[in-house]
Amino acid sequence: MSKQFKKILAVVFSVSCIVTGFDGSFYSMASDVSQSTVLPVASESAVNVVSGSVATVSGASVTSAGTVTSSGAVVSGGAVTSDSAIDGGNGNTEEDIESEEEFEGDFYVELEDNKAVIDFEPYPDVINYNIYRKIAGESEFDIIANPGPKKDSYTDKKLKEMTKYVYKVSAVYIDEDGEEAEYFYSYGEKKSVTTGLKAVKLKSVTAVKVSTKLKWKKSPKADGYFVMRRLSTAKNFKKIKKITGYQNHSYLDTDVKLNKKYVYKIVPFVKNKEKKVVKGAESNQIACAVKLSFSSKRITDKNSSVYGKKVGVYMYADGTPIENQSKYLSDEEKESYTIYVNKAKGQTLVYASRGSTLIPVQSFICSPGYATPVGTHRTLVKLRWHELMGPCWGQWCTKVVSNGIYFHSIFYNSYNDNKRLSVTAYNRLGQVCSHGCIRLQAYAAKWIYDNCKIGTTVVVCSKTGYEPLPRPSISALPAWHTWDPTDPGAVSYCKEHHCHGY
Ligand SMILES: [Zn+2]
Repeated sequence: MSKQFKKILAVVFSVSCIVTGFDGSFYSMASDVSQSTVLPVASESAVNVVSGSVATVSGASVTSAGTVTSSGAVVSGGAVTSDSAIDGGNGNTEEDIESEEEFEGDFYVELEDNKAVIDFEPYPDVINYNIYRKIAGESEFDIIANPGPKKDSYTDKKLKEMTKYVYKVSAVYIDEDGEEAEYFYSYGEKKSVTTGLKAVKLKSVTAVKVSTKLKWKKSPKADGYFVMRRLSTAKNFKKIKKITGYQNHSYLDTDVKLNKKYVYKIVPFVKNKEKKVVKGAESNQIACAVKLSFSSKRITDKNSSVYGKKVGVYMYADGTPIENQSKYLSDEEKESYTIYVNKAKGQTLVYASRGSTLIPVQSFICSPGYATPVGTHRTLVKLRWHELMGPCWGQWCTKVVSNGIYFHSIFYNSYNDNKRLSVTAYNRLGQVCSHGCIRLQAYAAKWIYDNCKIGTTVVVCSKTGYEPLPRPSISALPAWHTWDPTDPGAVSYCKEHHCHGY
């Protein structure tokens, strides 16, 4: 901001004047030049206005043949300055044009982040400044602050949203009579700002799997909100979403990547009469990391099928296990599967081993039988289609116990015909209902068949406690749907019937 003084030419007359009763120097507000003195001269109407009265200074009017000094003093009949005028000036002194240094300070009001920033040019020998404010339409100004003599700026933070405020600024000084006087900037001109919406509070940003969920306090006067985001390593925010409607005060950001940290803020907006979007103040900022963690612990639940074992799970930041736990396994770890069959829960879990830590990589719904023998077994043989008791047939059969206990698909009523599924048996998945085999959905039987080599350990137990992954649920099939919707060889049937997502 400019702090310069402007030198202006005062209005000067060429006048024959008689100075009467002048008994002192008239301290000029005009500048910090101490020699500069104004002599009020001439007629009785040469009113010495600078009396310490605020009122006369503000909006001082020029009397006839007079001029207004910057201090607001009305000098009728002409202003005379310069040293030459000091020496009494009595008698008929013809004065020609004289220059006068005069202060012509201005002030400026700007809205920054919904606060009014008032800058004013420093006034010489000031004892303080008065910052006046009123709401547009009100008649009275209030003095809202005295920032002190050394300041040239004041920030008015206590503003209501969507309100027009009018300001004026004055410098307070001691006049030559020793009284307080006020010099109004810009000759009393008032300047205004209109506030926008105030900031909303961004309450929380939480990672939900590979996305982030934002919640903020709603702003009833807003027409909507901008969601602003930056990477924690980036400088600038970008607008990622415009949300219409003040009551919509949450957002799920799905356009995020794993292992990145994001910083968010919210900016409310209103649409003005010209339908232009006017932004309000910005909210606080909240950072959120979208990351995976690998959490391992020894299972202390005695009712867990993995009691006493150390189990590690890849989790999202919110504690949800990721869907594909095998994504981060080494090739060696992928050769190290152990299968746990929990009869009580109708759940089969496949674990990979990382040292002594078990990592659950698959969770299947299954139907074991009461005859399924509890204990530790090893897989013996794999058969693509195999005849089961019934007679009936299963796909992707992996023998667990030598007396004829298998992992296999839900049974079919014909050999090598995947369109003759027992729908009843499929819909009972999760229940203990087999003759001893462990029935699985087709994709699950195939996964074990494809991924678990002969000799894989199978632990059969019956436990009601903790399992590291939830058991999947199934949707019951209608009677006509005589194929397993998870069978890769049956996709064309579902396509024909436009079912199961086709
Ligand atoms: Zn289907």
